[in-house]
Amino acid sequence: MPRNIPPSPFNVAALIPELAGLGRVTTLLYPRSGAPEVHDSSIGGPLLWPAAEPWPRCADPAHESIPAVGPEPVAMVPVVQLYARDVPELPFLAGSDVLQVVWCPLIHEDQDQCTVLPQLYWRSEVEVSATGVRAGSLPNPPGSHGHDEDFVPRPCTVSPTRVEEFPNWDMPEGLAPTLADRFDEIEAEFGCSYYDMATTIQSKVGGYPGWTQPPNWPDCACGRRMEHLLSITATEPHGGRWLPLDEHQDGAQVPLWRAEADPAVDDAIGHGMDMGDLGGTYFLFCPSCPGTPWTYRYDC
Ligand SMILES: [Zn+2]
Ligand SMILES: [Zn+2]
Repeated sequence: MPRNIPPSPFNVAALIPELAGLGRVTTLLYPRSGAPEVHDSSIGGPLLWPAAEPWPRCADPAHESIPAVGPEPVAMVPVVQLYARDVPELPFLAGSDVLQVVWCPLIHEDQDQCTVLPQLYWRSEVEVSATGVRAGSLPNPPGSHGHDEDFVPRPCTVSPTRVEEFPNWDMPEGLAPTLADRFDEIEAEFGCSYYDMATTIQSKVGGYPGWTQPPNWPDCACGRRMEHLLSITATEPHGGRWLPLDEHQDGAQVPLWRAEADPAVDDAIGHGMDMGDLGGTYFLFCPSCPGTPWTYRYDC
């Protein structure tokens, strides 16, 4: 079920006409610690995995330089599973209705960025179910390999929730400085900032990437800039506008932007990954090319 997110206390497009055309729908995922099952959308939950398909392992030779790991391949960890019935706006490949993401729980150098070498899988629930399913999850016990807890999510349910957001880092070049005075006026009048009320940094599908650093957009081989598919960020809101209303501290009569999470639910918020220094992994794709080529970026 979508979460109940309160409206912004101000109308961005009306107050700042320069941003009127830049609103985008994003689908916020709201991971919450739980017990998702194979046929559920999840973060860190068991994946719908074909019984005959080996669980993916990362054999990057760089592991050998990590004392606790050694030369054996390292089991990837399940990070995301999204079904079309929950997130139909994903660009599912023809015949597929499940998107899965796994990654190595160890950090690597790749193409001048640090990364967990993620892999995407587009699957058909019916086809996988027909060939026999097993719950794809981190082998338990994981063996002698070391893990970086920063990149192993705890099992979480998700609640895809569509909202309109506006650009943060992805503001057209030169626009932010010209709007600075009006952002200050908004903050003085409403008590809260444009950035807190109209932009999001949390795990989401579509909309603007939840960059925590300046954008690093990749180009596709066809020459087009890729589009945002999915962000998995360390940050999830524990207060403010983007905290679902039913998680606000009981009886709190404070303005929206000062809302805090009810202590009874606060511990369940988020997948628990710090991802370095509270960074994020971003998946980008090209909707124009056959096979939907994709790549990723990581920042922290
Ligand atoms: Zn690895
Ligand atoms: Zn392309």
